Amino acid sequence: MTVGLQTFETLRDASAVVGRDPSARFLGGGTLLVRALNEEAADFSTLLRCTDRVLVEIRASGSRVRIGAGVTMARILASRELAFLHPAARAVGGPAVRAQATVGGNLFAPPPYGDLAAALLALDARVSVQSGYSPRDMPLDEFLRTRDTMVRSIVSGVEVARPRGERSFRFLKVSKVRPKGVSLLTIAARLEDSAGRLSGVRVAYANMGPAPVRAAAVERALEGRRLEPLVVEAAAAAAANGCSPPTDAIASAWYRREVLPVHLSRLLLGVA
Ligand SMILES: Cc1cc2nc3c(=O)[nH]c(=O)nc-3n(C[C@H](O)[C@H](O)[C@H](O)COP(=O)(O)OP(=O)(O)OC[C@H]3O[C@@H](n4cnc5c(N)ncnc54)[C@H](O)[C@@H]3O)c2cc1C
Repeated sequence: MTVGLQTFETLRDASAVVGRDPSARFLGGGTLLVRALNEEAADFSTLLRCTDRVLVEIRASGSRVRIGAGVTMARILASRELAFLHPAARAVGGPAVRAQATVGGNLFAPPPYGDLAAALLALDARVSVQSGYSPRDMPLDEFLRTRDTMVRSIVSGVEVARPRGERSFRFLKVSKVRPKGVSLLTIAARLEDSAGRLSGVRVAYANMGPAPVRAAAVERALEGRRLEPLVVEAAAAAAANGCSPPTDAIASAWYRREVLPVHLSRLLLGVA
């Protein structure tokens, strides 16, 4: 199969073509797209690259950091500004994958992938999307719920607030193969407190549904409470509420539901 490659200097021009050509796909690092090509499973005939600087910038301003969609996991790992994302970026594949895999591509990666997306979701990230000539921003939560409709848009970047304190952001990828197996399930949690009580709790999963998802029932069980064993028990009891995990070669949906509360409790108690 012959596939064309087009390069654009601006996001607007690339986005105009993605918007009007259903056979075109935006190329991030290509770890999934090029694999689909090699496996002759490609449903596209054109790949679009873009050299716009905005895609590769990491810009910190006060407590907020903007990360271009073309930033790779390896660059996250090399950035001190992004130290809070290092556990999530390190969890993505092996070194060769991390050298290519981008933030933007991770937001579209189907199960069993999306480890970084789960971390960004627990950090309440906002996503900048370019559709045709119009840019807009939206919460990552909303983006992930509608991502199937976003394939005709280009993500230019994400913006997050750095978590307050080292232990206030936690990430756990559960895998059967160490150190670089794919995820059975992934949990990320922002657990900031105010006067000893949790405030603005966010908990997100990857591989507990068709896209990374927030654990709203767990967030409700934790919000305003102290992180103590009885509270963790209540959160664990609600762990799988609203989840529709996949059954795949790694595990069944039943197994994922069964082990999720155990791993969530360990993460919350700090023994993961
Ligand atoms: C061996 C192997 C191991 C892996 N292990 C993991 C893992 O442990 N955890 C994990 O999360 N993932 C894993 N992955 C999946 C993948 O590498 C990552 O999810 C990666 O972040 C995808 O990014 P990419 O830039 O390579 O995406 P690409 O392959 O370039 O693109 C993937 C999809 O995203 C779209 N896309 C990419 N960038 C944009 C953008 N800026 N705007 C709009 N659409 C865009 C593309 O059009 C395509 O539909 C693995 C992949 C392989 C091959």
